[in-house]
Amino acid sequence: MPIIAIAPNKKLHDYEEAVRRAGGEPRVLDLATDSPADVIRSVGGLLLSGGGDVLPSIYGAAAHPTFDAAEAGRDTYELELVRRALEADLPVFAICRGMQVLNVARGGTLVQDIPDELQTTIDHAVRIPPVAIAHEVWMTPDSLLERLMRTLEHGEDCPVNSRHHQAVKDLGEGLIATATAPDGVIEAIEDPSKRFCLGVQWHPENFYRTGEFRPLFEGFITASRT
Ligand code: MN
Repeated sequence: MPIIAIAPNKKLHDYEEAVRRAGGEPRVLDLATDSPADVIRSVGGLLLSGGGDVLPSIYGAAAHPTFDAAEAGRDTYELELVRRALEADLPVFAICRGMQVLNVARGGTLVQDIPDELQTTIDHAVRIPPVAIAHEVWMTPDSLLERLMRTLEHGEDCPVNSRHHQAVKDLGEGLIATATAPDGVIEAIEDPSKRFCLGVQWHPENFYRTGEFRPLFEGFITASRT
């Protein structure tokens, strides 16, 4: 059973459960004791979890008033983890903040506050319940995301939950957008040159009971086996 490293945050239950149900063994990392180099050598895949905002100075921007920092040390730690994982072509599945970390790790930038910076009528911050459907995403045909979701007989659109106030702005090097919301907000990114490198802006792990996004976790775990 492939070991899946999970970047720590305050609410890990659903990430761990989604990994287990897809056939992986979750290993929650400890920033203080697990060096990124050792982690990358000893696991099959890397799951970057959700959380607070990436420090804007890292991608060359001044902080917006709504800036809500992640736990101390996470930015530096996760940026190094994802860079090393991609160097080693280790499978990476990056969720919400994780997708933003992936983009910044490649030199990309972020929309710091969707309600303030973008003209949209879509509410991307629907918090309760966690599985509330907030909007659809339109997936790029034949992308990794669409090929996985196709197994559930999805068309190119797919309903998702949404709990983010930030989004990918300029794409990082080698990354492509493979899903957008109807208002143009980027909802998924991929590096097609890697075995498995997928970021999604929504929270597929919250659906572990009912399996709406199980193909994403299964695809990730399958890639992490080899
Ligand atoms: Mn959204």
